[in-house]
Amino acid sequence: MVDVRFENVRKLYGRKVAIDDISFTCKEGEFYSILGPTGAGKSTILKMIAGIEPVTSGKIYFDDQVVNNWPPHERDVSMAFESYNLYSHFNVYDNIAFPLRAPKWKLNLTKEEENKKVTEIADFLGIGKLLDRKPQNLSGGQKQRVSLARALVRKPKVYLLDEPIAHLDAKLKFSTQTLLREFAVNYGSTIIYVTHDYREALALSDRMMVLRKGKIDQIGTPDDIYHNPQVDYVGMLVGEPPMNMVDGILVSRNDKTFFKSGDLFEFELSEDSAIKAQKHAKNEDNNLSVRLGIRSEYIKVSDQKISDNSFQLPVYAVAHEAESTVVTFELDNSFLHSRISRGKGYDSCRSSEKVWLEFDQENIYFFEKNVEISKA
Ligand code: ADP
Ligand code: MG
Repeated sequence: MVDVRFENVRKLYGRKVAIDDISFTCKEGEFYSILGPTGAGKSTILKMIAGIEPVTSGKIYFDDQVVNNWPPHERDVSMAFESYNLYSHFNVYDNIAFPLRAPKWKLNLTKEEENKKVTEIADFLGIGKLLDRKPQNLSGGQKQRVSLARALVRKPKVYLLDEPIAHLDAKLKFSTQTLLREFAVNYGSTIIYVTHDYREALALSDRMMVLRKGKIDQIGTPDDIYHNPQVDYVGMLVGEPPMNMVDGILVSRNDKTFFKSGDLFEFELSEDSAIKAQKHAKNEDNNLSVRLGIRSEYIKVSDQKISDNSFQLPVYAVAHEAESTVVTFELDNSFLHSRISRGKGYDSCRSSEKVWLEFDQENIYFFEKNVEISKA
């Protein structure tokens, strides 16, 4: 296994910038996820590592060797494609065995050795009974697991997995995710894992990158990404409901700093919060304008005034879930969601009722405005 390092890598398709000067290192043996929306450039990164797309500029290293000019077969990577790429005239067994037989890897396995490897990975992924079938007789989820088995059957320097479980139903997704984690721990090599599902990235990764429009928003552990988002987009990408974003202004009165948004929404910032807020505030129309972020579980809702820092808003909607209730408020250009764990707040409120809200100031964030927020 190797470290994979990007140094100022750019990739253009014609005049379209797909990857815009990114640098990162995925360490040897690491489970490293690339999380981002469709079109972010995730697959392009994997294809450049595999050597099936050339880089436009910059360098890709495996350990301390620049691999830019290495052909794919010299890079010794193994890739699973979202689109499966199965050989339709081969059965499942032969599809999975394919990389073991490829002359370029010079494995020269006996039939028994090959059979052991194929059945082991197929059983591991729960497709051991499908080995005689042709791809056209498989469901999408089965094809996806065959594609994954084919990628995992051989131990390369780096595994490149491109949305390998995106097409599984929720239950299989969860169990396969668990298997992947187990695979990484037991058979581990460097794994670079692409997904647009933040849950997968948080659950699987040692570290992860958030990629948007060919640029890196943040790199960190799942814990960093969830609890310490550096960019508004990262907060909004991760979590259910996503992190609330409220655009407002900072107002000073009697040596105190208040955060104000619209007519109803105003509360005093703690000293720490005020310092953080000022750091990200921008002068806009003679106001200090800033974006506040808070996760839904850190907004308290009550039918009574909670503290001097609480304020009142009318309830827009209420949704009861198994373990909690989500109460939604309407703001000028967004919605605000509060998640109340069962029995931990005023979860019996109704639409249009005026209730008291309080923000947990230990858990609020401030951002520069990077992305548009909307009610959609
Ligand atoms: P992701 O995998 O994150 O969805 P991709 O890496 O597939 O993103 O694509 C990144 C951007 O590059 C997109 O805007 C996409 O349309 C463009 N792109 C990808 N492949 C090609 C190609 N072969 N030719 C032209 N544009 C491409
Ligand atoms: Mg892709």
